[in-house]
Amino acid sequence: RSGAGLTSSLASSARSPNVSKIYRRGLNEDVRITRTGKPILTVSGGRSSLGGYTATVFGATGFLGRYIVNRLARSGCTVVIPFREDMAKRHLKVTGDLGRVVFLEMDLRNTASIEESVRHSDIVYNLIGRDYPTKNFDLYDVHVEGAERIAEAVAKYDIDRFVHVSSYNANKNSPSEFYRTKAYGEEAVRNIYPETTIVRPAPMFGFEDRLLNTLAGQKNFITSNWMEERFWPVHAIDVGMALEQMLHDDTTASETYELFGPTNYSLGEIAQLVDREIVKTRRHVNLPKRVWKPAAGLMNKYLWWPVGSADEVEREFIDQTIDPRAKTFKDLDIEPAELKSLTYEYLKGYRSSAFYDLPPQTEREKREEKKYLHVLD
Ligand code: NDP
Repeated sequence: RSGAGLTSSLASSARSPNVSKIYRRGLNEDVRITRTGKPILTVSGGRSSLGGYTATVFGATGFLGRYIVNRLARSGCTVVIPFREDMAKRHLKVTGDLGRVVFLEMDLRNTASIEESVRHSDIVYNLIGRDYPTKNFDLYDVHVEGAERIAEAVAKYDIDRFVHVSSYNANKNSPSEFYRTKAYGEEAVRNIYPETTIVRPAPMFGFEDRLLNTLAGQKNFITSNWMEERFWPVHAIDVGMALEQMLHDDTTASETYELFGPTNYSLGEIAQLVDREIVKTRRHVNLPKRVWKPAAGLMNKYLWWPVGSADEVEREFIDQTIDPRAKTFKDLDIEPAELKSLTYEYLKGYRSSAFYDLPPQTEREKREEKKYLHVLD
């Protein structure tokens, strides 16, 4: 607030009791007291403001990571980003002002590096997860032991808030190892840090997703369940918005959130939407589970790029179920976006340039109702 603004506001507040009330509320909002009693100077001047929270985001180099780092950094928070690979983190540097996005090298088995990453923070987000086992980390190492180590560091330094991103369908009795380990991870972090906020996102879509991009990009898409698994796809930006809101709302501590989109689709229905949007027909090959599951397992073991895994084939046979006890977007006052309304935005890059056409220029063209799919303005 500028000096002149402040003086006039004070003068007017002396005259009118209503204005005075409004002004006092404004003052109180400048300083927030965290759960552990630490005062935080909240800032409203955007990315160049001084003050705000310090947040650590584990797994920030992934798909969802950028949607929370960008929100935090642009509102003036200091964001600590533990990373493993130099090139994977570069795009995050520019999300905040100079010095506000801090990178620290971290290894999920190196407790000291984890503690170093969290000890100055007011909130820690754990977004670390992997869809398939890798050479050095199986799913249990990442989702349970890794999460446990992070929760222990959070508890050791008495960090105010811990938000752990799990997964939809997290269930200890699931036939899928991914869902099982996510459920064990939830249990482990809650045992260590009971105020953990658990977030279970549905399959996410967005620019860098593995849903629309896989369906649009692969010429031969191999599945085992005829693309019949059903779920409620959710927009990554909505999940990022929810994660940011959790920082500002302490009533979200100790709660579990299922974040899912407004409409239930089968994978096949999404594939149809994708084909229509990219104006191409992608081939879908269905192999029996007894053939494709062991083959995917072998490919995952011997090829060094992501090609699917046995567990991902297993997951094709499990529809998304929503835990009725969990909170949802509604409790955060967020209206989740509809997949159908955004497919054009995310998939236009897959269209042939032949479909970028101009509107009808002449009367004759108009009469002939020249069909054009998109107009660049
Ligand atoms: P990504 O796979 O895009 O990113 C995963 C992140 O975890 C990366 O930053 C990766 O780091 C890090 N990571 C993985 N393994 C390790 C490890 N062994 N040590 C250190 N870091 C590791 O995931 P998303 O952003 O898509 O998802 C975020 C979270 O949401 C994950 O927990 C995921 O399981 C969960 N989720 C995602 C869904 C989706 O549709 N995308 C659906 C449901 C849940 P690096 O870049 O160094 O590899």
